[in-house]
This record gives sequence, C-alpha cells and structure tokens, in this order.
Amino acid sequence: MSIAGKTNSSRLHADLLAWYDRNRRTFPWRAPAGSRPDPYRVWLSEIMLQQTATAAAGPYFERFVAHFPDVFALAAAEQDEVLRLWAGLGYYARARNLHACAQRLVAEFGGRFPQTQAALRSLPGIGTYTAAALAAIAFDRPAAPVDGNWERVLARLFDLHEPLPQAKPGLRALGEGLVPPRRAGDFAQAMMDLGATVCTPARPRCLLCPLQAHCRARAAGTADGLPRKAPRKEKPQSYGAAFYALSHAGHLLLRRRPQQGLLGGMMELPGTPWRAEPWQEAEALAFAPGPAAWEKLPGQVSHVFTHFRLSLVLWRAADLDRQAGWTGAAAASWVSLARVGGEALPSVMIKAIRHAQRTDGHAVP
Ligand code: SF4
Repeated sequence: MSIAGKTNSSRLHADLLAWYDRNRRTFPWRAPAGSRPDPYRVWLSEIMLQQTATAAAGPYFERFVAHFPDVFALAAAEQDEVLRLWAGLGYYARARNLHACAQRLVAEFGGRFPQTQAALRSLPGIGTYTAAALAAIAFDRPAAPVDGNWERVLARLFDLHEPLPQAKPGLRALGEGLVPPRRAGDFAQAMMDLGATVCTPARPRCLLCPLQAHCRARAAGTADGLPRKAPRKEKPQSYGAAFYALSHAGHLLLRRRPQQGLLGGMMELPGTPWRAEPWQEAEALAFAPGPAAWEKLPGQVSHVFTHFRLSLVLWRAADLDRQAGWTGAAAASWVSLARVGGEALPSVMIKAIRHAQRTDGHAVP
C-alpha cells in the first residue's frame, strides 16, 4: 500500500519536516536543532522510554548521565549502582542489559556504537525498535522506529482498520516505506512528536495537522476510532507474602533476588514465592526468614507487572536481635533504615516497606 506515489510522499515529508522545525519538543536527551546527537544519550533515552512516559523519564535520565556521562563510565560501574539509579523505573532487565551492552561496546567496539540496524540488534537489550531508533536518530540512517505514536499516525494516514497487535507488522512495513532519504532522524522524531501532540489517541487535532491533506482517515471521518485494538486480556492474579524484619538497632532484613528472571539482582524483603493461589498463614510462615513473633499486618500491597497483578500480604516483627537465629535468610543482609533508600529496591518493595512502616513509625529516607 502506498500513500499516493512518490510526489505525494515528497510533499508529505516536506510538510511534516517543516512542522517539526517549528514545533519540535525539547527533551534533555534530544540534541538542539542542527547539532549532532550523542548516540549514548539517544540509546539511553530510548531504553528508558520503552516502558516509561517522557515526563517521568526526564529526572532519571538527568541523574543517570550525571553519574555515567559516557559509555565508558557506565561499563566500569558496579551493576548494583546501575540498578540503584534505575530503581523506580521498573522493567529492570533493561538496566541489566544496558550495563551489559555498555561493557560489550567497550570490549568489542572501542566504546562506539555500530551504525547499522543489524549490528545494533546484536547488542544486549537492543531489539528491532531500538536499533531503528538509534540508526535514524543518532546516525540519520533511513530507518523507521515504529512506536505507539507512529502506529497511531500510520493507521490514520492509511485508514488501516486491522486491530492491534495483529496490525503491527503491516504498520511497520508502511512506516518503512514512508521514511525519507534525507533527515530520517528528524522524520522519526517528527512522527513521534506529531503522535504525542496532534494526532493524539482521543480527539486528534486534525485542523492543526501538517498531514491533513495526506490523511485517508480524516477524509473518511474514521480517525477517532483508529487504530483499532483487540480486547485486552485480563492479567492473571498472583499472591505472595513478605516479611518486614526490623532489628532493635533499626536495621531491616533485605535479600537480593537471583540475577536471572523478574527483578533480577534487585533487593527485596524476604518472602514466599509468588503463585496463583493465596497463601494460608501457616504456609506463608514456613518462609519466614527467622524466629520471631510475626504479626500479620492489615491490608495488602497491590502491584501491577506487565503480565500479572501481585497481591502481597506483609508480616512484621520488630526489636529483633541480629545475631540470633537468622540463618534461614539466604543471601540476606541487615541494612540500616537510614541506608535503605539507597538500595536497589523495585517499586513493589518500596510500596511494601512503606505499608509496613505505616504501623511502625520509621520512615525510609
Ligand atoms: Fe492524525 Fe488528523 Fe493528522 Fe490524520 S489529519 S494524521 S488523523 S491528526
């Protein structure tokens, strides 16, 4: 499917790029107009923005580049420090892959990013989308980083009614067919900005749109309902119990999760595995990290992961003696409450600790 031949594509490119030159958004990771982007900052921002809104990612990005100003600094860091700076962004495999990717770049590429999509895809954590974004934005290569904004604009431009996610390959092919031979990086960012500010999910602002003359959905009056989406499946529910163990000197027992799998390498309260059935009290207490007068706290902590919802029941014991009988707490250590805020804690565990502290009177710094 072509939008209407070469002439109109050229017109579309010119219309969109002229709009971008006047309306481009400013982000801490975006190079000023006319200057060459730093591939390190482009890469970092694209990884952060995969699951995080631009407004939320900004402060994390600033903090991250202040600590790790280039790929060499990131490669040389301890993984724990990387995870700590990532804590709160979620999807921690991204942070581990980021670190591994920096180390590969230093070891095998002299600290420079390769420029082709194929070579970029061979690096940890860089898939089809990120390779295209880097190729286009950092190196101005003709590539189509088709994200949600691109998908919405493309579905409307071509009046495509196939629902997502089945429509994704077709939309990507349409996007690839639309990339201009020059200014591919600006075009990529223009599509993102247009989708975020004009061709919005609800009530697209077609009267302000530089593409209105090219847009089939606008002509057909179907833009509001596009892109169509297949009904979402309900996320399955999981259950767990966690133990908030506080020593009399104000130390909290934390343990490190295994490197592989969900929240790999992050810190957590000791607890049960997470499973599809709720835990009976006696079953849960068999996972307590040591002998104590465990008190079950009222309420629960709810957290939504990509593929499931978690409901966590908390047990609390305080005034504990750190020396006695805590051998069951594998890979665990006592962390002073004053230092807990500096640990690589995922959001679900920050919620759990705060929930326990509402009954405790100690606050995590
Ligand atoms: Fe989106 Fe409207 Fe522009 Fe079409 S004319 S691309 S529907 S904002």
